[in-house]
Amino acid sequence: MGNKVDSHTVLFSVIGDPIRHSKSPIMMNRAFRETGINGIYTAFHITADRLGDFVAGVRAMGIRGVNVTIPHKLDIMPLLDEIDESAQVIGAVNTIVNTGGHLKGYNTDGIGYVRSLKEEAKSDLAGSHVLIIGAGGATRGILYALAREGVASVTISNRTVARAEELAEAFRGLVPVIRAIGQDELQAACGHSDIIINTTSLGMFPNVEETPIDSSWLKPDTVASDLIYNPLTTRFLAEAKERGCRIHGGLGMFIYQGAYAFEYWTGQPAPVEAMRETVLEALQQSKS
Ligand code: NAP
Repeated sequence: MGNKVDSHTVLFSVIGDPIRHSKSPIMMNRAFRETGINGIYTAFHITADRLGDFVAGVRAMGIRGVNVTIPHKLDIMPLLDEIDESAQVIGAVNTIVNTGGHLKGYNTDGIGYVRSLKEEAKSDLAGSHVLIIGAGGATRGILYALAREGVASVTISNRTVARAEELAEAFRGLVPVIRAIGQDELQAACGHSDIIINTTSLGMFPNVEETPIDSSWLKPDTVASDLIYNPLTTRFLAEAKERGCRIHGGLGMFIYQGAYAFEYWTGQPAPVEAMRETVLEALQQSKS
């Protein structure tokens, strides 16, 4: 059944370039149906040169909420009225809340990831030693969210070590112990970590044979976590499971970043299980 659309329907959207692959509309419209909220969520293909026009449109049309994806997460920031502390520290916005024409930017990626990690793999992260492989945009959000969980240490390994060093420097005041390493120190770091997170694109469809580490470096009982959700179980996760690790895939991050956005916009708890069911169905359909 479709969402009811009438003169009171409130509009929400996701913008990006490209955008037609996005699973956000089906996930969020299911959330509105499930909670009985009279809202509709669409995808707009917005190119960089029309970003200002789009923001004017949000104000003029009273679009209540917007999700922002690649490549606009940074460039949208100066166009907003207020930036939440999380998005400021992370340096990127993925969610906008429009309250009577006042646009406030948030970042729900990192907190979405950590909520999913806690619900699905390890309920208490305090005191954990975390290894992050990758130092791109997603890593920044995750570092911000991990810092609030009382982790004991974070080690960042990246192909381009300078990017890992830059991140370690930026988050030094927030995480008690944080360091950057090159790939030559990765094996030793795996042996000392409670949680290993792959934030690189290694292993993502269609390059499903790629993996960020040699699985023999993993010790059993480590939590192996991957941001990738296509495939749902990457080679990294499949091999980690064989080694006796607990595994955690990237689908939960996608669901919970959306759940936080939904909660910011509506003030109601997001129907997370229904959202997950819808996205899983869509992923399966796009494979068949
Ligand atoms: P990004 O900013 O482009 O960063 C990519 C990272 O991958 C960099 O650290 C890069 O290393 C590394 N990398 C790429 N190719 C590599 C290779 N061949 N060997 C070693 N390292 C390589 O991307 P991002 O936005 O952070 O996203 C990273 C991943 O997270 C993607 O797979 C994305 O799909 C996923 N993601 C998932 C969600 C979700 O909701 N589940 C949300 C956001 C992102 P260099 O610095 O050396 O280039």
